[in-house]
Amino acid sequence: MPKIRLRFAPSPTGYLHIGGLRTALFNYLIAKNLGGKLILRIEDTDQKREVKGAVKSLIDILNWSGIKFDEGPEIGGDFGPYLQSQRKNIYSKHIQQLINKGKVYYCFCAPERLDKMRQEQQIKKLPPRYDRTCRDLSDKIIKQNLKDKKSFVIRQKMPLAGEVIVNDELRGQIKFKAENLDDQVLIKSNGMPTYQFANVVDDYLMKISHVVRGEEWIPSLPKNILLYKDFGWTAPKYIHLPLMLNKGGGKLSKRQGDVAVEDFRSAGYLPESLINFCGLLGWRFSSAEKKIEENEIFSLAELVKIFIIKDISVSPAIFDNDKLDYINGYYIRQKSLDGLLKLIKPYLKNNINLAKGKINISDEYIKKIIRLEQKRIKKLSEIGELTEFFFTNAIDYSKDLLIWKKMPFGQIKINLEKIIIILENITDKNWNNNFIKNAIISYIEVANQPLGEYLWPMRAALTGRKASPDPFDVAAVLGKNISIKRIKEAIDKI
Ligand code: GLU
Repeated sequence: MPKIRLRFAPSPTGYLHIGGLRTALFNYLIAKNLGGKLILRIEDTDQKREVKGAVKSLIDILNWSGIKFDEGPEIGGDFGPYLQSQRKNIYSKHIQQLINKGKVYYCFCAPERLDKMRQEQQIKKLPPRYDRTCRDLSDKIIKQNLKDKKSFVIRQKMPLAGEVIVNDELRGQIKFKAENLDDQVLIKSNGMPTYQFANVVDDYLMKISHVVRGEEWIPSLPKNILLYKDFGWTAPKYIHLPLMLNKGGGKLSKRQGDVAVEDFRSAGYLPESLINFCGLLGWRFSSAEKKIEENEIFSLAELVKIFIIKDISVSPAIFDNDKLDYINGYYIRQKSLDGLLKLIKPYLKNNINLAKGKINISDEYIKKIIRLEQKRIKKLSEIGELTEFFFTNAIDYSKDLLIWKKMPFGQIKINLEKIIIILENITDKNWNNNFIKNAIISYIEVANQPLGEYLWPMRAALTGRKASPDPFDVAAVLGKNISIKRIKEAIDKI
């Protein structure tokens, strides 16, 4: 049995698409479930598309995700280099083998001629295809052109007739008509390989056993397989992951919202949430129907145990933001307060600046605030806006906010004054949610008055918000002095 080796082979575009993370994850899960290795290979031969710093940021975001590679550019391994741009010699050596075998040919066509040909094909509504002018050049002409240093590319000779039959582990046999296959370029005029060539050579040399990639690569499959045949190599298994669509059934695009994993990270999605969410995009555990229906929560380690190829679906996976929020909320609730403090602090930067010199912001204070919001937030970035009133002395709201139902301002004033008296009587030692709550509620009950007529104005006075945690929680965190001060300010507004 050949060893199990899978690879994630991204091209560095400047950000990692969420679909790329799903591909990396499925590669990881299959590799680990089968006891194999996962390799990171950077496909950076398209220098026109190169973005500065892209490789570093790609590795950085993959590290953040928690997906661990066994070999790769920063880790090393026996099959490197793992950056295609450093493997030029390897490709040159291998293309020479195909030249010798007559499987490929030099094409000296000038770009202007090819452009013109494409335009004509477009007008005639024909698919863009090389017209094979150079396919049968004589050795003499080729030699002369090379001697004259004429610019050239190297193209693969596609079969002229018949069918190319390939296999996908999920879909079975797929047939492609030879007439639809272009004599694709394998080596560009600058000597660099194309994706098509480098990808196959590297998969072979890196002893890849399973190629797991998005469905959009199916059209490449016959070309890949023909290259393996030309070399006389055995091809790996191919698994194409289902498309990812938005809820409306369209393609996920950068314009329609975030698709970059980096954007999800900055919005405050946790890596374990994105992993859990991506794991469900096109995969369903055949014997865990119940668990999936219940909560759809799977850790990376759990996924490794149960992830098998045959449970991957071929129908499109729908990207459901609400589900992602639900999963992220779940993982936020699982965090310890100290853990959350570390993660949340960067999102509180503005609030902390706001408080400088006015409110004493200790980690203990922030933890109390986080404890109040941990149950409700869906992503970490929500915390700043939600908790601003804990970090400022100047809460700004209109006095109408103090009105519960239609109660008159006169009554609001009386009720708030009563609350101040109750609060003033609570000692610092007893200043906690339960004590404050008992003191206020028992007063209102004895007075036999509507709860809302006290609690709403009190909460509005403390927060300046329509929605917030309950007034006892807020008062407990704000402390006695600030709480009383805010209620007095509310009275002054009236
Ligand atoms: N470099 C290709 C990409 O960017 C890899 C495709 C494949 O996995 O074969 O997705």
